[in-house]
Amino acid sequence: MASAEYHLVTDFDGVWTDPTREFHAIMETLGRELARLSGRPEAEVLSLLQKVQDRVFKQPEKFGWRIHDHLTSYVDEDYFAIPAALGQFMEQSQEAPFAELGQAVLGENPSMTAFMDEVYHGTCRRFRKTVDHDLAHGAEHVLRWLLRHQVRVTFVTNAPPEKIIDWFAHHDLPVLDARQEDADEVGLRVYGRAGKQWLGDPDLGLELNGRFVRTDRPQYREILERECPDMVIGDVLSLDLAQPLGMRVAGHPAAPQDVAIIRKPYTPAWVLQSLGPEAHNVDFQVHHVTSLPRILTESYRRLQASRDSHPAPPQQAAGGPL
Ligand SMILES: [Mg+2]
Repeated sequence: MASAEYHLVTDFDGVWTDPTREFHAIMETLGRELARLSGRPEAEVLSLLQKVQDRVFKQPEKFGWRIHDHLTSYVDEDYFAIPAALGQFMEQSQEAPFAELGQAVLGENPSMTAFMDEVYHGTCRRFRKTVDHDLAHGAEHVLRWLLRHQVRVTFVTNAPPEKIIDWFAHHDLPVLDARQEDADEVGLRVYGRAGKQWLGDPDLGLELNGRFVRTDRPQYREILERECPDMVIGDVLSLDLAQPLGMRVAGHPAAPQDVAIIRKPYTPAWVLQSLGPEAHNVDFQVHHVTSLPRILTESYRRLQASRDSHPAPPQQAAGGPL
């Protein structure tokens, strides 16, 4: 393994990108496909979808990315869960015309989930062909700063690994696939299709400000156990941060010292209220990826202080460059 001083595990979409453009492309596809399936004018379908979205956001605790009858993320914290939540509403609704839209989908698709998956993945594939990259402003400068300061950066994302590899290659920043055996010695690595959404025991979780956030995510946990990060950062508390928070509450040896949320315009109050000093709390809110050097410097000082109070064996102890 590389001998970096500090190890950051980071989500990709929403942390290093602004997901707005890709989200709007997904919603356009959804409107177009629903118009085709239902035979209604696209403008009418878009108006109905807005009504569905308004209804869904009145009860965000009941809607989101649902897998095997359990919510793996909530609609108000996860931009990319919005289409799935709209599908869930249309499928459950007894009200025409929402129910008719749901029936139109099921007439040509094996399930609402399969339809929404195709809308999502098909749009994302097309989107990546139309842009060189959609990185947040300054992202490449932050990565260069992290590399200069010997921070080991591991992207753990549900996106395909080539998205991260190709977009940073645009800035001559090589990111290697972490699942390749020869990738251990480099600074920038990615685990794509990380399966953060897949749940083990759905009854394991944390109550955070009125939301039950599921913490047993075996595929994600396996990566965290292998990587032992000092900090985990993400933009969706349930998908990115619930598992590391659960590990920290349980005293898991691979739990990160710090957990950070990227604050987006859509970040809901219950997520922001989860900031605090306890093991189940989020430690930092980060307003933009360009704030990472300041936040990591503070986190590194805390790490050093805790190493000083619990000294490591001499061969592992090292001064910090941050
Ligand atoms: Mg994300």
